[in-house]
Amino acid sequence: MSADAPSKPLIIPIFIPHAGCPHRCAFCDQAAITHVRSTLPDNAAIDAQVRNFRFAARPDRHPVQIAFYGGNFLGLSESTIHSLLTAAREHVRRGDVHSIRFSTRPDTIDDRRLALLSDFPVREVELGAQSMDDRVLALSNRGHTAETTRRAAAMLKARGYNVGIQMMVGLPGEDPEGAAASGRAVADLRPDFVRIYPTVVLRGSVLARRFREGRYPPLSLADGVGRTAALRLLFEGRGIPVIRTGLQASADLAPGAAIVAGPYHPAFGHLVLSKIFLDMMVDASGELIAASGELFFKAHPRRVNALRGMGNGNLRALESRPGVRSVRVGGDPALGPWDLTVSDRTGRTIFRRAVGSPGPGSSTGA
Ligand code: SF4
Repeated sequence: MSADAPSKPLIIPIFIPHAGCPHRCAFCDQAAITHVRSTLPDNAAIDAQVRNFRFAARPDRHPVQIAFYGGNFLGLSESTIHSLLTAAREHVRRGDVHSIRFSTRPDTIDDRRLALLSDFPVREVELGAQSMDDRVLALSNRGHTAETTRRAAAMLKARGYNVGIQMMVGLPGEDPEGAAASGRAVADLRPDFVRIYPTVVLRGSVLARRFREGRYPPLSLADGVGRTAALRLLFEGRGIPVIRTGLQASADLAPGAAIVAGPYHPAFGHLVLSKIFLDMMVDASGELIAASGELFFKAHPRRVNALRGMGNGNLRALESRPGVRSVRVGGDPALGPWDLTVSDRTGRTIFRRAVGSPGPGSSTGA
């Protein structure tokens, strides 16, 4: 059993930084995070990007998609939308790629714009919801409401598109309860997948000015990881895949380059998984600590790194607990992606499952 989604799609990003944006959202600086300075790619640039990605990728990646990211795709002029989709469709016709996806603002979804897509092999549309709290959206200069996102998702689903929702944690005015409420509201939209991004303070953004003026306190890394971990469990528990947690690492994103402050880490997604497993390990081990203090944790082999935590941090955290004498970890391919067992020297085993039905029982005596 795989601990992650079995399919390995190849997404070929075509960045259109800030193209089609009606204004600048408070947290955004696409030039900083995409390190693309020009606006719209021409056909030659799209061809080159497809060629380069196909050349570098394993041939079994499937599906292969061209993705227009970094801007507000359906906010572009109709002629530009048409010409970019035509260039992408040419690659579908040649068999280089299977379909097209793009990200767009919820307030660009209407009958007229959706009609523009009907001649093209668009499969996924990613809506930048960011939050489902109207106050947070206003403080983030988004210019739309949660209701706009609800309506947009419903229109896309009614037309058969796969819908992805991008949301953020740590936006201005958000607290942990608000983040959880936003997560539940996103889950209620029944998206096909979700991406969760921590809010970092990008150098050229409105948020950077507020931060310098003491008007925006960013989340700590621990709080960003904690809120994201809670959301990941919420979505996975509702059967909604979380395909990304955290920004794509790059040299440009290193603290001191584009990032002024905030919960950035190049392995943010790993920190999130590690936090989920540490919480389970602490919860599951109480009785065994009292009995012998010798703990042997197991998870699916692909989750063993999450058991260990960053730099073995989970192991150290457990070893420092009173009564713990030794901590070992190992893989068990029979376990599911969110399962954990902990045993002691007597063979007594306790089972935990973070997501889904309770499984074989919370405690199975040897
Ligand atoms: S968040 Fe989206 S809509 Fe807002 S400025 Fe950035 S790319 Fe444009």
